[in-house]
Amino acid sequence: MPLFLPHFNLQKLNTLAVPAVANFYVAVHDDDELREALTFACTENLPLLVLGGGSNIVLRADFPGVVIQLKSQGKEVVAEDEHFVWLKVAAGENWHHLVEYTLDNALYGLENLSLIPGSVGAAPIQNIGAYGVEVKDLITELSALEIRSGIVVNFTNESCRFDYRDSIFKQALKDQYVITSVTFRLRKTAQLNLSYPALRDTLAGLDNPSPQAVSEAVIGIRQSKLPDPALTPNVGSFFKNPIINLAQLQVLRTTYPDIVSYPVDTVRVKLAAGWLIDRAGWRGKEAAGAKVHAQQALVLTNPDRASGARVLALAELIQQSVRAQFGVTLEMEPRVYP
Ligand code: FAD
Ligand code: NAP
Repeated sequence: MPLFLPHFNLQKLNTLAVPAVANFYVAVHDDDELREALTFACTENLPLLVLGGGSNIVLRADFPGVVIQLKSQGKEVVAEDEHFVWLKVAAGENWHHLVEYTLDNALYGLENLSLIPGSVGAAPIQNIGAYGVEVKDLITELSALEIRSGIVVNFTNESCRFDYRDSIFKQALKDQYVITSVTFRLRKTAQLNLSYPALRDTLAGLDNPSPQAVSEAVIGIRQSKLPDPALTPNVGSFFKNPIINLAQLQVLRTTYPDIVSYPVDTVRVKLAAGWLIDRAGWRGKEAAGAKVHAQQALVLTNPDRASGARVLALAELIQQSVRAQFGVTLEMEPRVYP
């Protein structure tokens, strides 16, 4: 039986370091403990928060329910051929430790996703991405336990309906499954993705960079512009990059010829949300007790460990001013609880 801890302080379990208390906290290490925790929440009629590393949530207030943190560990090679290895990884594993493990074992594909905080189980939820690689490019399938029935179901890559920072687990199946393991197809011979200028420029001096060099370059760039959550609480990008029509971009270009955009398909483009926030005058600014990061305006920080409500108040001000100036709506990336 897992241990249910009442009146549990969550401040150390969310990287924004928001002070908040949960009615109950329980750490689970396998599917049976997870089922017991779910049964408890159901019997007590309490809401659930499934927690990994807490690096993509905002606790607006105390959580009036059960926080279930996944602590399951394990990696297993489930198949192999001449070119690939299929590695099944437990949801509770730390994401960056997995990236390091794959590189140490000459398994490639995750190098651009180095140093992303959080757990393996959360990675598919928003289809984590960085430097031109999304985790959907590597996932072949995953296992998830249905909250209602306790039954474990396999999802193929296609059935996860991955999209830009999105999946079926944030849409039609929101709050219905707990991801318990993820299977990755990793290459035995590296095929590097150096499409992002910052990465290409950092590696420009190397003739034939290794995947380890790519990982080190990603770590170096990230450390130079992103605040370390252990020192300066944050949840990474606070907003998604908005996707708009080409026609809307043409209109914006007449006033802002230097607006930063990237093609999505023949009719849509992705705007850099950080650029919009910067041009709206928010870079380095402080309001409501929270701050806009000076090196990357897309990141909000919480240096004084203020309440989630205060961080959300700053986010709201930013959304309002970007909407007023550019006519573009910024959608928040982290999930807000309760
Ligand atoms: P949590 O914050 O614990 O949970 C996030 C959501 O997923 C919650 O709704 C939770 O209920 C749900 N969830 C978690 N685990 C499970 C599970 N096993 N089953 C079902 N639901 C689950 N993200 C990127 O995409 N790219 C980046 O480059 C990136 N860089 C970041 C840099 C910094 C400094 C920080 C602080 C964050 C960054 N992020 C980035 C955001 C974040 O790290 C990722 O979204 C990460 O996958 C969240 O993992 P977590 O375990 O902390 O999730
Ligand atoms: P950056 O390299 O300064 O780029 C700014 C924005 O432009 C990014 O949001 C990126 O979009 C986009 N971009 C840059 N080059 C691109 C290209 N060749 N094709 C398409 N889009 C391009 O960004 P950064 O802030 O330093 O972050 C670097 C990477 O880490 C990005 O991929 C970013 O998503 C990721 N990251 C994510 C988080 C998070 O919490 N979600 C936090 C930190 C960093 P994309 O964001 O779509 O890649």
